[in-house]
Amino acid sequence: SKTNEGLMTRRQAAVAQGVGQIHPIFTQRAENATVWDVEGREYIDFAGGIAVLNTGHLHPKVKAAVQAQLNDFSHTCFMVLGYENYIEVCEKVNQLVPGDFAKKTALFTSGSEAVENAVKVARAYTKRAGVIAFTSGYHGRTMAALALTGKVAPYSKGMGLMSANVFRAEFPCEIHGVSEDDAIASIERIFKNDAEPEDIAAIIIEPVQGEGGFYAASPSFMQRLRLLCDAHGIMLIADEVQTGAGRTGTFFAMEQMGVAADITTFAKSIAGGFPLSGITGKAEVMDAIGPGGLGGTYGGSPLACAAALAVIEVFEQENLLERANQVGDRIKSAISEMQQQHHQIAEVRGLGAMIAIELMEEGKPAPQYCPQVLKEARDRGLILLSCGTYGNVLRVLVPLTAPDEQIDAGLQIMAEVFDLVLN
Ligand code: PMP
Repeated sequence: SKTNEGLMTRRQAAVAQGVGQIHPIFTQRAENATVWDVEGREYIDFAGGIAVLNTGHLHPKVKAAVQAQLNDFSHTCFMVLGYENYIEVCEKVNQLVPGDFAKKTALFTSGSEAVENAVKVARAYTKRAGVIAFTSGYHGRTMAALALTGKVAPYSKGMGLMSANVFRAEFPCEIHGVSEDDAIASIERIFKNDAEPEDIAAIIIEPVQGEGGFYAASPSFMQRLRLLCDAHGIMLIADEVQTGAGRTGTFFAMEQMGVAADITTFAKSIAGGFPLSGITGKAEVMDAIGPGGLGGTYGGSPLACAAALAVIEVFEQENLLERANQVGDRIKSAISEMQQQHHQIAEVRGLGAMIAIELMEEGKPAPQYCPQVLKEARDRGLILLSCGTYGNVLRVLVPLTAPDEQIDAGLQIMAEVFDLVLN
């Protein structure tokens, strides 16, 4: 019979090492917030395949929708022969993305692809080539997305310089000493030192940084960015790949920011475990690229579109936006109690159910505890993730459909592990 160790040996021989793996566990089966490995061990899944499973593993309605689609056809390529569920996803997302204007959508496969295409659209609309991105931002691993990603190691290490025309502004992050004024000043500095605003096509920002450490931009900061973009004809791109599809308690995090982006990217949880991404924006902006300039063989796969429509329906039927806030409050209050016992827990934060626990010691990031926390939690049956520009943030992305008892069981394991590791 298969073992995790046996598969790891085969993996190491056959798979390029650049493709990392956080936990040395191989999956046999999964359901809602539970995963079973090839050795029959059961785990509570607080990772959700990195923010992909807001509706859990194989939600019965998502599974049924994909199975029904599979009976009809799996692929035609939307650029060759159209099909209705692609159109229906675009219609729904046009409604869900904030902004009081006519919108259009294009569908792709991965988050990185959505980011690349958002930049293409902004360039075509503005006839400019520059993009401003933020320190510690994460926008993907394909070449242009990687140029926007604000962390060299491990993402672009050893690959040489990324493409030019990307300028790095500071992301506001009070806990690490960057105020909103500092962040705005860093953009003004780019305009003074590097490129005039008339050469900047877009400013791309995650409303809550994901890989960077779950730091939320404030509504006031987002409003200042909006004003700055409007003053100079720059497109504001909200990268909602990780925040979108209900994780933060609204379907898109920008709903809580008081302003709308010109272009929004989405992926991950939108299709509940099937590969789908997209960009939605102002109709006139989106139409800046002519026929044939957007697309991809698998973009908006009918299987993934069927899944996305089911996800959107499940959100309504099961009140998952409200649930995101309940789950978030439940986790934050439990971890705040653990914080009383452990001085290394510097902050517990989160918008909706996008929860982070930041570990610091003597005023400095304390990433040294994270690997052991992940290991000890895994050994007790809990799958956790870390993140952060300093690697010192533990994050919780549990399915919103997980029952309270299972969330509490996961939190109980976290309490035990903190007692062991943070002492
Ligand atoms: N943008 C953000 C905000 C992300 O969190 C991610 C993935 N972690 C991406 C883009 C890239 O998405 P993908 O891995 O699907 O290419």
